[in-house]
Amino acid sequence: MKIPFNKPHFTGREVYHLSQAAVVGKLSGNGSYTRQCQQFFEQRYSIGKVLLTTSCSDALEMSALLCDINPGDEVIMPSYTFVSTANAFALRGATIHFADSMEDNPNIDAEKIEALITPKAKVIVVVHYGGVACDMDGIMEIASRYNLIVVEDAAQGLEATYKGRKLGTIGSFGTFSFHETKNITSGEGGMIVVNDPSKVNQAEIMWEKGTNRAAFARGEVEKYEWVALGSSFLPNELTAAFLYAQLEHIDDIQQKRLQIWDSYYTKLVNAGLSKYIALPVVPDYAQHNGHLFYITVHSKEVRDSLLNYLQDKGINAVFHYLSLHNSPYFGSKHDGRMLPNAERYSSTLLRLPFYYSLTEEEIDYIVGNIRDFFIQHSPEQPK
Ligand SMILES: *Cc1c(COP(=O)(O)O)cnc(C)c1O
Repeated sequence: MKIPFNKPHFTGREVYHLSQAAVVGKLSGNGSYTRQCQQFFEQRYSIGKVLLTTSCSDALEMSALLCDINPGDEVIMPSYTFVSTANAFALRGATIHFADSMEDNPNIDAEKIEALITPKAKVIVVVHYGGVACDMDGIMEIASRYNLIVVEDAAQGLEATYKGRKLGTIGSFGTFSFHETKNITSGEGGMIVVNDPSKVNQAEIMWEKGTNRAAFARGEVEKYEWVALGSSFLPNELTAAFLYAQLEHIDDIQQKRLQIWDSYYTKLVNAGLSKYIALPVVPDYAQHNGHLFYITVHSKEVRDSLLNYLQDKGINAVFHYLSLHNSPYFGSKHDGRMLPNAERYSSTLLRLPFYYSLTEEEIDYIVGNIRDFFIQHSPEQPK
């Protein structure tokens, strides 16, 4: 058997909507498909403003601009995250303070944040790892006490909730990814959710190269002009048309992914592997979205040899997130604090193949091979 790590899912409607976009003949951004995708989320999540972007990285860069980050401003975020979370703020000259993950899940530890706050602190960026919500009440409380802006990197968190509230709708800004590896995809793509009503106008102008072109397109102004700083953050209509084809099937996609997640969990528990591996912990306040399935093991040596073992069996499991505080770019800028949980996830976490068309037989094969690995490599027999 050969099981890739990811396979993009096609709903079957992509070519139809792509050809519709071509027939309409407006291929540049902010056309009808872009607006339909934005309205889809504005209605579904009952939020004021959604703007499609070319990636979550771009949405994060927009949020750094909207937070008015200037050199020397301080931003607190987890070390265990994708590089784009940090890049967006570092590009604006922010000083980044990386916080540790929680003991039992890779999200930022809300209790570690307060000690990192100085008078120059401006923003807390949270990352909902694997679509599992961070402790948002705790984080929002600290943010309001110190007057900090909260940005949610919800790249992996589409459709997941915290106490029933959709991720990305709680902080001032939420950013999402439609990269090929995410639940809903347009190849590359993303969006920013602007929850702070006082920032909607600025966001829209920034999105269209610093012009009031979006207002012009709505007939609100007679000409469009350079009114503020901005860039080109909007995707073309073909990307939006492809995305729309995925959104038409979002409930089906989510249901299927949650089923795969539950199946992995049950089968790993039933395989009696609990003394060798730790399964994901989802706190009571979080409803995840079946974005990914990870396990952690006791050491980097075990993780790496398990990865090799699975590779030999045709199973492409992967590891990820080398903690950013230790990265070649940032290492010398870090203040030297140990971040033991982040470092542990970097060296012991392993992600299993996860995609819409993954079958029960494939899950059985993967779980069976994980079990075989521990039988062969452990002096103890599994329970
Ligand atoms: C995927 C991801 C990103 C980047 O998304 P792009 O759309 O590829 O730019 C950022 N942050 C996190 C946590 C991610 O998982």
